[in-house]
Amino acid sequence: MQFTFLGTSAGKPTRERNVSALGLELDQDTQWYLFDCGEGTQHQLLRSRLSIGKLSTIFITHMHGDHYYGLPGLLSSKKLDKALNPLAIYGPKGIRKFIECVMNDISYEKLGYQLTIIEYSPQEEYHFDKFSLKVLPLVHSVESHAFYIKEYDTANRLDEEKLKALGLEPSPLYGALKRGKSIVVDGKEIHPESFMLEPRIGRRVIIAGDNDTPEILGSYLDGIDLLVHECTYLQKTYDTLPVKVQHTTARDLGICAEKHHVRNLIATHINPRYNANGKIGIEAVSEEIAQHYNGNIFIANDFDCYYLSRDSIIIQL
Ligand SMILES: [Zn+2]
Ligand SMILES: [Zn+2]
Repeated sequence: MQFTFLGTSAGKPTRERNVSALGLELDQDTQWYLFDCGEGTQHQLLRSRLSIGKLSTIFITHMHGDHYYGLPGLLSSKKLDKALNPLAIYGPKGIRKFIECVMNDISYEKLGYQLTIIEYSPQEEYHFDKFSLKVLPLVHSVESHAFYIKEYDTANRLDEEKLKALGLEPSPLYGALKRGKSIVVDGKEIHPESFMLEPRIGRRVIIAGDNDTPEILGSYLDGIDLLVHECTYLQKTYDTLPVKVQHTTARDLGICAEKHHVRNLIATHINPRYNANGKIGIEAVSEEIAQHYNGNIFIANDFDCYYLSRDSIIIQL
């Protein structure tokens, strides 16, 4: 499972960071999925190894411009690139009106490909080729959502090493064993139950939109392999804001991740004020999280690529 960050800034782009967008690829899949599509996402795509032609589905967390203003340009370029495979967009109420308004009399003929728009509600669950996705409500100044992604478990796996040790190389007999049939090799009967591996449990990930209360995700966070969550402020910055905004601080994110034994945490949606040239560098964000959380912390930068292994290890590519 691979995550490519295409935009990691909060609210507006900076020289180093574009606004929110995240690509997800599953193992051995020919398509990929996009989470949020801030302005300029198509430009970021051009600088990444992801191609618009293999994008199958877009999920929008909420209707703030830094999370969806990139849609019209991307939809148009898809046609010009002759990437005419169907595309589905899942978003909250309002996403249909936005797309239909901006694209002006949208139609398959004009776009040249099939576009499906699905307006979801919290708690709805959808099924894709390799995972299920459940919509969870967050707390923000507009309705905002997280996506709970559960990769399907893989059952019915043969212990090929054990079979090869018996001299049985891959053949149609493997298929018979998988179908639960006993086979005979060199006069010896082989029963399938002795050669089946335990089911491989799918990875569990939450990709969250803007939110001021990570704890609202509750038990969905328990022992999860990876949480991707906004982290817009340091606590000390937040405490001095004259007008409070509904975003998460590094402290609150760390406390919540620790409480629920989150295995890996990637913080994104970073406030432009934290940067290498400013008074406060980005490392201050991970330091504040680390004061409260003992798991693995990553602060996403644009074009960072992370692979989440089946045993819950994150490898930065
Ligand atoms: Zn935002
Ligand atoms: Zn927002």
